[in-house]
Amino acid sequence: MLNVREYHRVSSIEEALELLRKQPAASLVSGGTALIGESPENIETVIDISALPLDQIALDREHNLLTLGANVTHQMLVEGAGDLPLTPMFEILCTTAHAMSGLNIRNRATLGGALATADSASPLVTALLACDAEVSVWTASASTDKPRTLPLAGFLSYRAQILAEGALITHIRLPLADPAMRFAYDRVARTPRDYPIVCAVARCAMKDGIVGSVRIALGGVAATPIRLPALELGLEKKPLLDFLDRELLSAISALNPPSDWLGSAEYRREMAGVLARRAILRAAQAAQG
Ligand SMILES: Cc1cc2nc3c(=O)[nH]c(=O)nc-3n(C[C@H](O)[C@H](O)[C@H](O)COP(=O)(O)OP(=O)(O)OC[C@H]3O[C@@H](n4cnc5c(N)ncnc54)[C@H](O)[C@@H]3O)c2cc1C
Repeated sequence: MLNVREYHRVSSIEEALELLRKQPAASLVSGGTALIGESPENIETVIDISALPLDQIALDREHNLLTLGANVTHQMLVEGAGDLPLTPMFEILCTTAHAMSGLNIRNRATLGGALATADSASPLVTALLACDAEVSVWTASASTDKPRTLPLAGFLSYRAQILAEGALITHIRLPLADPAMRFAYDRVARTPRDYPIVCAVARCAMKDGIVGSVRIALGGVAATPIRLPALELGLEKKPLLDFLDRELLSAISALNPPSDWLGSAEYRREMAGVLARRAILRAAQAAQG
């Protein structure tokens, strides 16, 4: 970050927003693990948000939500939330946070950073999509004294515009899933410990062979992780095994993945089908008990 001229370590959200209002192009820095890799000439003003009290993992029983502060590190998710019960939803966050990177990076990298960068194959962002996450964002230009709360899928679609206005992600909220629901994660990578090329997270409940509350999210097949709403709808309240292959074929053939040195578009599309199928079958099997 050779061009940094101003460094501000803020201690309140108001202070961060005030600075963003004056300089919307300023770079927020939380864990710093992604920012240090950016071109130094792009970064002149840094607002360090790591001291903000946004590192809590809490149950909001009144609204039936799990609330995660934006400064919660990936490793905090891996280690679990103190005395909070290790529910299937928390377990999938734990598994996918672990899959993000090695321990040194996980100790620094935050949830806010993962959402702001929204890497195409991010296992954690893929899991958050399957958990119906919502994102609370303060924008410097807004005149209200409240953050906007957006479904994660909507946030990801407009992420570039929202962040370009000067925005601070403060919380991620997850509706506490019905305890009968189960989750599963699968991925392909170059090595067993490597970051995925393509990954899938599925969630569902299952009763008498009928699947419900289906969520299927994929990483590595678009610019950011995505959900497959048509597939989810096509399976909802149906006998899973009778509909899975047909609905999956139609959903996967509509994908238009990127090609790069890790995998061609054809390979990614093929893997998306295999992984989504495995993940939903594993989640359904676990939910059936
Ligand atoms: C060696 C190495 C390996 C890595 N491997 C991976 C990997 O495998 N997969 C992967 O996805 N990433 C990887 N990363 C990138 C990085 O670790 C992740 O993207 C991480 O989630 C970023 O979190 P952070 O807190 O460090 O973000 P920072 O670096 O602090 O910030 C990253 C971006 O997010 C913005 N930002 C951060 N917090 C907020 C907030 N609360 N509100 C609004 N904007 C915010 C910043 O302004 C900045 O633009 C790697 C990085 C390194 C150095």
